[in-house]
Amino acid sequence: MGFGIWDLGFPNMPEGDTIFRAARALHRALAGRTVTRFDSVFPRLNRVDDDRPLRGRTIDRVEARGKHLLIWFSGDLVLRTHMRMHGSWHIYRPGERWQRPRADMRIVIGTPEFEAVAFTVPVAEFSTGHGIERTPALRDLGPDLVADDFDPAEAVRRIALLPDVEIADALLDQHAVAGLGNIFKSETLFAARIDPFARVGELPREEIERAITTARRLMRANITASHEGLATYSTGRRTTRRADPSARLWVYRRAGRPCRRCGTPISTKKQGKDLRSTYWCERCQRTGDPTSASRQVPGQD
Ligand SMILES: [Zn+2]
Repeated sequence: MGFGIWDLGFPNMPEGDTIFRAARALHRALAGRTVTRFDSVFPRLNRVDDDRPLRGRTIDRVEARGKHLLIWFSGDLVLRTHMRMHGSWHIYRPGERWQRPRADMRIVIGTPEFEAVAFTVPVAEFSTGHGIERTPALRDLGPDLVADDFDPAEAVRRIALLPDVEIADALLDQHAVAGLGNIFKSETLFAARIDPFARVGELPREEIERAITTARRLMRANITASHEGLATYSTGRRTTRRADPSARLWVYRRAGRPCRRCGTPISTKKQGKDLRSTYWCERCQRTGDPTSASRQVPGQD
């Protein structure tokens, strides 16, 4: 089984689908193997390694929880990492040349067969199994969009608890529903034909349900792609089912270009307290709001 390098750089900003695939690739490379090397630039991780050495432990499993990645070691030790915008995990054969500079290395977990290297990962902590479940970032996560046991009704219920929040921002709230990031936010609302700026409380229940089922469908489609075992990310994610690489996404980063459905130029605007870019089609996603035309800011990225 060959494992190529994979990278989570743009346009694959880590969302639930990429973390899921990362966890799956790491699990295949590492699970059941014995740790022969552990390195990190994080003093906190090294202190744990000093007290409770990683060497000699078995890697039990690797899993995704929303946008968090958990590596479970024997002896009740768990490593949680979060990629934020630019972090990534790579898998190499021992001695293989790394594809990113050594200065970007944050963590190395070596086994006789593979080594996993985390580059520019900003969040990393060890915990016990009990402790990790109590970590607020995990404990309070909403239903995980890519999980097999995803509970859509619970996700809809949690979204509906945010009546004053615009739906695009509500979808990014990991406490409401886990896994969605900025790319899938815009793609989901386009595919579901929902105005990103509509407040949750203004939307009929069916529209919230449609947003959730659409998000689930798009994300799942991106974790069951064809590169099983190879773990390459070079082909990028896709929401349109088109083979042409330039036609993979409906609206994301397509400001000013014609809507793939109706030809109207795609709009963009920074949205929410974090000023995340939202992309949408005024025509396809109109919900009868007379002020929507004034929201257009063409040509920006
Ligand atoms: Zn359109």
